[in-house]
Amino acid sequence: MSSSSPAASGAAPAPGVLTLVAPRRPKPPRHLADLTVDERAAAASALGEKPFRARQLSVHYFERLADDPATMTDLPAAARARLGAGLLPTLITPLRRQDCDRGRTVKTAWRLFDGAVVESVVMRYPDRVTVCVSSQAGCGMNCPFCATGQAGLTRNLSTAEIVEQVMTAARSVARGEIPGGRPGASDRIGNVVFMGMGEPLASYDAVVGAVRRLTDPAPAGLGISARGITVSTVGLVPAIDRLAGEGLPVTLALSLHAPDDALRDELVPINTRFPVGTTLDAARRYFDVTGRRVSVEYALIRGVNDHAWRADRLGRLLAARGKGWVHVNPIPLNPTPGSRWTASDPSAQDAFVEQLRVHGVPVTVRDTRGREIDGACGQLAASSEV
Ligand code: SAH
Repeated sequence: MSSSSPAASGAAPAPGVLTLVAPRRPKPPRHLADLTVDERAAAASALGEKPFRARQLSVHYFERLADDPATMTDLPAAARARLGAGLLPTLITPLRRQDCDRGRTVKTAWRLFDGAVVESVVMRYPDRVTVCVSSQAGCGMNCPFCATGQAGLTRNLSTAEIVEQVMTAARSVARGEIPGGRPGASDRIGNVVFMGMGEPLASYDAVVGAVRRLTDPAPAGLGISARGITVSTVGLVPAIDRLAGEGLPVTLALSLHAPDDALRDELVPINTRFPVGTTLDAARRYFDVTGRRVSVEYALIRGVNDHAWRADRLGRLLAARGKGWVHVNPIPLNPTPGSRWTASDPSAQDAFVEQLRVHGVPVTVRDTRGREIDGACGQLAASSEV
């Protein structure tokens, strides 16, 4: 676990001073999107404003997608200034924007208040808009085929830092900046996938807070259907069980990548704590509690995990846990810098898919977008040195 930016790791201890506890990192400023409706009213009072002003602010932020207090003219000027300063600090600042697919896929690198950098990706399809968000700056899971894993974890994002990645996308789509929607199609954000930088379930409270903010009906939140939200995990078993109990029917994606412990220990190192069988049992429980079909993610790596016998083993493991509870998303590996691994041959991919189907397991090869701008799965690697 390393932090690559002095700014992100707080003040350095004075030379010769023995540090017995980790230095306290300054927290991101508090933001409206961190707070529940009741907490917002209390915060408005604490700022010397009437509690109902919090609701007005929420209408601006979540319903009208406004973030500049100057435009909130139903608030008295003094209230605007106080509430803006106290509840709408700038949390993420664009550093760099890259697009591809004729502007339909947009990756943005964001600088956070402490200099940490994360990336998010907006993908516009004819009938929907999907935002892929980061939940951590860096990642501590150390999967060797994923670019994010290589630099270690800098820190968890706050709830509002996650929500703001979606809000900036919503504002951008509403301003007509991202083409590709079918005429008449909604330009609201319908899908949010926690598949950017970081391990969402290692930052549980901030991520569940963000899911609540995104799914609560306006003006408490953005009003996205929980069914449109996917939380992707390496398989932190206790957190999967906890998430199942939240009453939030989000889709769980499990990054499996190997059906055997020997190989998965290498590809997804947390497997040494939560082996394949234990992890799949937790995924099945997630389905039992939420009724949401689980996605198993499987990056196909040439000559490493793409053998027909592994497809057969995976099919058996899934079928043994019942029917209709899971589907598999093979993803051709996206190249990452310095990695010796590459995507499977199309023929190996086809054979893998066929072998899985023999077991009655539904399979959809995932279309990944943004490879040319290093914006596809596993390629987000913004570092604080950018
Ligand atoms: N930490 C979470 C979410 C982030 S990654 C997780 O691991 O699930 C989102 C997905 O991209 C995961 O399924 C991850 O395994 C996959 N991925 C990582 N690197 C990849 C690569 N180089 N090519 C294709 N998929 C990759």
